[in-house]
Amino acid sequence: MLQDKVAVITGGGKGIGFAIAENFVAHGAKVVLADIDGAQAQKAAAELGRSALGVTCDVTDQDAVQAAVEAATGEFGALDVMVNNAGITRDATMRKMTLEDFEAVLDVHVKGAWLGTRAAAAVMREQGSGSIVNISSISGKVGMIGQTNYSAAKAGIVGLTKAAAKEVAHKGVRVNAVQPGLIRTDMTAALREDVWQAKLQEIPMQRAGEPSEVADVVLFLASGLSSYMTGCVLEITGGRHL
Ligand code: NAP
Repeated sequence: MLQDKVAVITGGGKGIGFAIAENFVAHGAKVVLADIDGAQAQKAAAELGRSALGVTCDVTDQDAVQAAVEAATGEFGALDVMVNNAGITRDATMRKMTLEDFEAVLDVHVKGAWLGTRAAAAVMREQGSGSIVNISSISGKVGMIGQTNYSAAKAGIVGLTKAAAKEVAHKGVRVNAVQPGLIRTDMTAALREDVWQAKLQEIPMQRAGEPSEVADVVLFLASGLSSYMTGCVLEITGGRHL
């Protein structure tokens, strides 16, 4: 589905980002894994073989994001797919959340996705084609206790996605987002057992999702199968928070 396409995946060193990279490579793509942990990105890329390159990239750094895009065009000759996936959580109720916790989360998600979208769109509009996929969260749809920073950031990604989609549609560039629910990664492994169980109770399908199940929806949005979709937000939640 992505034969000879070139993708950049931020936060691609592990978790959902790595699952997306694995899926893309299995479908014929070349991928650049751009992660703040450069050693992890290189290790992950080595697992995927010659179709993958790992680079150090902090998505809050404009120059680093530009360099990741240039790694794709320089090493593999194009940029067809950009996945803005890098993410962090700094959960706390507003009584305990610091301004630093708020700003760090907004920076990585909103500024990071904006820098990635902008840098990728610049290449794609010249090419006349491309697909950008932003990783939001169901937390951005419903708002979650202890996540005023993360919910704001993930809702912000939806606005960014829709506005960017309208700006670049006439150039053949599509911009869409996904909102995963509870997915089994290091990010959610940090949850307390009682919190994990409470979340499970809310899920009609009665289980957490796997990174590969997010990766399949991202593959759909990245590929020609979704050629007439832009500005869309797809939920991957097992039916939670409908
Ligand atoms: P993860 O396992 O923690 O992976 C996130 C990756 O992003 C890590 O490799 C992390 O590196 C990297 N990263 C963090 N800050 C970065 C930065 N400034 N620049 C570049 N890379 C950075 O998390 P995940 O669960 O796969 O999450 C991936 C995305 O899905 C995130 O946007 C998250 O918000 C979203 N999401 C996850 C869930 C879920 O249930 N897991 C649900 C909804 C949405 P370090 O490990 O070195 O920090």
